[in-house]
Order: sequence, then structure tokens, then C-alpha cells
Amino acid sequence: MPLWHHYHIPTTVEEALAHLARYDGKARIIAGGTDLLIDLQHTEKGAHTLDALVDVTRIQAMTEISASEGWIYVGAAVTHTAVVDSALIELQATCLVESCGVVGGPQVRNVGTLGGNVAHALPAGDGTTSLIALDAEAHVAWADGRREWLPIGCLFKGPGESAIDSTRDVLVGFRFRPCAQREATAFKRIMRPQGVALPILGCAVWLKLDDRSDHCADVRICIGPVGSIPARASEAENALRGQVMDDETIQAVADIACQTLHPRTSKYRATADYRVYMIETLLKQALPLAARRAQTGIAQAEGVGLG
Ligand SMILES: Cc1cc2nc3c(=O)[nH]c(=O)nc-3n(C[C@H](O)[C@H](O)[C@H](O)COP(=O)(O)OP(=O)(O)OC[C@H]3O[C@@H](n4cnc5c(N)ncnc54)[C@H](O)[C@@H]3O)c2cc1C
Repeated sequence: MPLWHHYHIPTTVEEALAHLARYDGKARIIAGGTDLLIDLQHTEKGAHTLDALVDVTRIQAMTEISASEGWIYVGAAVTHTAVVDSALIELQATCLVESCGVVGGPQVRNVGTLGGNVAHALPAGDGTTSLIALDAEAHVAWADGRREWLPIGCLFKGPGESAIDSTRDVLVGFRFRPCAQREATAFKRIMRPQGVALPILGCAVWLKLDDRSDHCADVRICIGPVGSIPARASEAENALRGQVMDDETIQAVADIACQTLHPRTSKYRATADYRVYMIETLLKQALPLAARRAQTGIAQAEGVGLG
């Protein structure tokens, strides 16, 4: 039995919404298809047969990366490879290049999109982890005609459950503030070495140093997956704000993160104890790296292509 009957390639968001409306819940958005096609193939025979797929990868507004009026905009259908290739994002939001740069292998990165990563709503999504640390906003075109920007965290309702109904609504893109002076980001991930295995844990940080460049003026940390939805490590953030950026502080912040975050044992990832231990390891890598970038203004992505 075919997994879908019709395939539409709209060139505007309005056209995509109109296709979805016409099929009344029996059509679904497809971008790179790296998650969706596996989902469709692995469900009970025929249970997920769709009347149509609506391919959003030819909608110009959804494939652009741009900067204007103090925001960086990344369309939801931008591929991980396009993020990695963006000098603008590498300089202004390095963690996003680092996270998209370790998604799957080159074949997955070439077609998989940032919007698909977010809409799939898994707390392990690497692009998602960095967008949370960047305090990104998502632009959603709802089926009822509303268009709104909302904090990206509002989209996640549970593992694999999004506020966006991909049979009716369109996630159009993301925006976030570029790093200003003395601000920088970093992303680190622990992965089993087999390549296509699930990540054990990922960590994205955004850091702002004070005028003297040695104290933390502000910070955002996202470590995942540790819960049902991607979220900030707020206790660890509170422990770092206003503190001098030295080894002692970073150890104290890592200790608090280990006490307050509770990753579970997963046969596919690792034991809970090991994953807690890795929280410390990741923070001790990501925080000094972001601090160094904030001090020097030099932001060169690391680890890209090692996924
Ligand atoms: C071998 C392999 C390795 C992988 N490794 C990683 C990894 O290391 N890290 C990681 O984070 N992910 C990984 N993934 C998962 C996947 O590649 C990413 O999540 C990718 O970003 C999904 O994007 P996509 O464009 O392929 O989404 P699709 O599969 O096209 O769509 C995923 C879901 O989102 C919906 N959707 C897509 N775009 C929109 C939109 N604009 N608006 C509304 N709904 C939308 C679809 O309807 C579907 O429900 C891997 C996948 C594979 C197959």
C-alpha cells in the first residue's frame, strides 16, 4: 500500500495552508523527510497512509537565512548543511552551526531541515537545543489564519508532541538576536561512536560577559534530552549569573546542574549515572569555550561534520 497518494510542492505559505485545509487532516507537511518517512514506514500497515504530502522546501520565505532589524532569520525549511555553510550564523550564533553540523551524516544534513527538527518535537533535537539557548522565536502560520511569533519553548508539549499540527499549520521560520560584543555561544554533544546512534546528551550555551570580560553578566543553558520537552537549565544559569568565570565557578555550576537535572537511563543512550556525569563534562567544555569566544570575538565552529 502506498504511504501517500498525492504530492504537492507549493511555492508560498498560503498555498501550503490551502492544500492542508483541503485535505482536512489527511495531508501532512514534508520537508527533508528524514524523520517523517521513517515514521510512516514503521507504523502499522496502512495506519498512517496519507492522502497527500505537502512539500515546503520550495517556499522561498522558508529557505532563507537573513539579517535585518536586529534579528537573524532562518527559514524552517533551511537544511542543516545550509546552516553549517552560513558565515553569518557561524559568527553570530556559533552553537547553531555546531549543532546542525553533527546531525546524522552528510546525507541527512543535506536534506534534513531545522524546522523538521523542531516540529518533530523530540527533546534530543540538536538544532532545537541550540535554538532554545539562543532564546529563538518561531513564526507560525496557523490554520485559522493567525500568524504569530512566539517563544520557541511554547511549541513543545511532550516527546514528539508539538503545538503545531503538521497536518494543518506551517512552521515558517525562526528568529533570534545575533551575538553582540562580549556575547558568544557554544554547543557540545556526547555521542556513541557508531555514527547513526542516538546522542547521549547535547548542551548549548549562550553567554554574556560583563564590561571587564571576566564575570558572567547573563547566561542561557539548554541540556538535552533530560526531560519530556527541551528546556533551560535554570538552576545552573542562576548559579552562574554575576559570578567570575573561573574553574571553581564552572565546577560549582556543573555540580548544580548534575543535582537538578535528571536524565533517565535509556538502553539506546546510556545509564542515568553516566549521563549525569556527562552533564558535568559538557558544561566544562561548553562554558569555557563560549567565554573564550566572548572575550576574543573569534567564533569558529568546532566539531562540524563529526556526527
Ligand atoms: C540517520 C539519521 C540520523 C539522524 N541524526 C540526528 C541527529 O544526530 N540529531 C538530530 O537532532 N536529529 C537527527 N535525525 C533526525 C532528523 O534528521 C532531524 O530531526 C531533521 O532535522 C528533521 O528534518 P526534516 O526536514 O527531515 O523533517 P521531516 O522528516 O520532513 O518532518 C519531520 C516532522 O516535522 C513536520 N514538519 C517538517 N517541517 C515542518 C514545517 N515547516 N511546519 C510544520 N511541520 C513540519 C513533518 O510533518 C513531520 O511530522 C536523524 C535522522 C536520521 C534518519
